[in-house]
Amino acid sequence: MIPFNAPPVVGTELDYMQAAMSSGKLCGDGGFTRRCQQWLEHYSGSKKVLLTPSCTASLEMAAILLDIQPGDEVIMPSYTFVSTANAFVLRGATIVYVDVRPDTLNIDETKIEAAITDKTRAIVPVHYAGVACEMDAIMALAEKHDLWVVEDAAQGVMARYKGRPLGAIGHIGCFSFHETKNYTSGGEGGATLINDPALVERAEIIREKGTNRSQFFRGQADKYTWRDIGSSYLMADIQAAYLWGQLEAAGRINERRLRLWHNYYDAFRPLAEAGRVTLPTLPTLPAHCQHNAHLFYLKLRDIDDRAAFIRDMKDAEILTVFHYIPLHTSPAGLRFGRFSGEDRYTTRESERLVRLPLFYNLSDVNQRTVINTILSFFS
Ligand SMILES: *Cc1c(COP(=O)(O)O)cnc(C)c1O
Repeated sequence: MIPFNAPPVVGTELDYMQAAMSSGKLCGDGGFTRRCQQWLEHYSGSKKVLLTPSCTASLEMAAILLDIQPGDEVIMPSYTFVSTANAFVLRGATIVYVDVRPDTLNIDETKIEAAITDKTRAIVPVHYAGVACEMDAIMALAEKHDLWVVEDAAQGVMARYKGRPLGAIGHIGCFSFHETKNYTSGGEGGATLINDPALVERAEIIREKGTNRSQFFRGQADKYTWRDIGSSYLMADIQAAYLWGQLEAAGRINERRLRLWHNYYDAFRPLAEAGRVTLPTLPTLPAHCQHNAHLFYLKLRDIDDRAAFIRDMKDAEILTVFHYIPLHTSPAGLRFGRFSGEDRYTTRESERLVRLPLFYNLSDVNQRTVINTILSFFS
């Protein structure tokens, strides 16, 4: 069986985890956490990067940090993972869904302004597949209407928009190091990028159970006390040790993923030219948007064609999957949000899309098998 995903392993992880165990400090903010945070700050240019237990936790931190209150509205695509919305619903917000663009499946930046009301507080662009949303347009809208921007860059580590790393453009960015993402901290993990310097101090407090413990450890306070609401949003250092091995190999991981992505793209181009499938749209100007090969998808004619495809692949011992059920068509998504304007592409495109195996340790031989099986499915 060729799996859909396998967690990335580069080979140094065990040694670093062993080193973390020998250091006598396994909780959060140990040596490996510090190294990872510095690496991420240097790479992204963000004012402060904080490792967290997950991207879900990072999004929750962001909602607390921005003081999202009951009755506030938060704009995002419906085509995303539940955590994007859940984090804000936990603070009492109403989610306002905006349609996606058919080419990237990212929020359609031209439809955001019509969704803004006097209750809107934030826009949450999701960089689907590690392909950047149109951040210049989104940041301009946010400035005009005095809104916060939280980038859900769960899939966007090592991807760029006009040269700028995703996650470092909005006021706050959120990364995921879940095992299905490009880099992992041993299964679960995330990071919050605090790009607005005015938010840094309170972010550290929220992450440390509402205390100023971080300041205390830096010698900036003589005792630490309860200052604000907060939770435990720290990553254990043994997980940061795993992540450190991956970050050191980040360039190699990114290159391998891009190689695999382009192998698929080149192999299926004739199918796309014959009108049998739709491929992801590559930006006409590569400098505009450098993606990170987070995932490779094909779009088939409709939901029935997709079901037949997934069944045939499974019979050939290849696992392919789809996502997401649009949030505005799910029970909680309906209860906590509303769709602004027309759902022209969100549902239609979500029903056509199927994801192929793409992970760092996928072998050339196995990818060849996937490609040949798909080509014979269509012949
Ligand atoms: C994976 C993902 C998340 C959640 O990440 P976790 O680290 O598993 O909490 C959130 N948003 C998007 C778009 C994702 O792909």
